[in-house]
Amino acid sequence: MSKKGLFIVVSAPSGAGKSSICQRLLMACPEIKFSVSYTSREPRPGEINGKDYHFISRDEFQERIDQNEFVEWIENYGNLYGTSIKAMDDILENGKDLLLDIEPRGAKKIKQKYKKSIFVFVLPPSRIELLKRLEKRGHETDEAIKSRFAQAESELKEVSWYDYIIFNEDLETAANELMAIYVAEKCKRNRLKDKIKEYIKK
Ligand code: 5GP
Repeated sequence: MSKKGLFIVVSAPSGAGKSSICQRLLMACPEIKFSVSYTSREPRPGEINGKDYHFISRDEFQERIDQNEFVEWIENYGNLYGTSIKAMDDILENGKDLLLDIEPRGAKKIKQKYKKSIFVFVLPPSRIELLKRLEKRGHETDEAIKSRFAQAESELKEVSWYDYIIFNEDLETAANELMAIYVAEKCKRNRLKDKIKEYIKK
């Protein structure tokens, strides 16, 4: 059997800056594939179908649930979000590394099924700063901002079971920390057993 890729799961409350940090990692390490989730929410300005999300209708989402296409799915802020089992397994089984951006409830389900995954939680510098960032994004109503902030507060409690924590006080530093986590995981002895055997043989 070929060697499976490294699977990194990143979670953070909305507005913590997770997408920017993940984008930096993907730009610096183009060998990492991004797991594109399905969602029933409307695309935001600048979002691209098939790159940021697969944007589908609620009916199509329901059909995919019925066909057991998702390793996990949730209803979040009135919209459905789900991760396709096949898309993920195709990447990992081919030995490619995979990055998934997902909220903590979904991440917990992934942890049960993909036990060797690495879990990273990105924290905003402070709760006040988080609220400011949510307000600054400008694409949501006051009601939606309030609801995202309330959810963020409960998501922060999930930090306890993650493997790594990044405080996003500065984007550059936070992105470097995610990169450092990735590189350190790639250098773990357990992941390199075959390579070490080959090396000793030579
Ligand atoms: P947004 O609407 O801001 O893009 O995403 C809202 C939340 O849904 C974020 O916390 C994001 O990580 C999460 N999310 C995105 N894709 C998935 C998914 O496939 N499954 C789950 N459980 N959450 C997701």
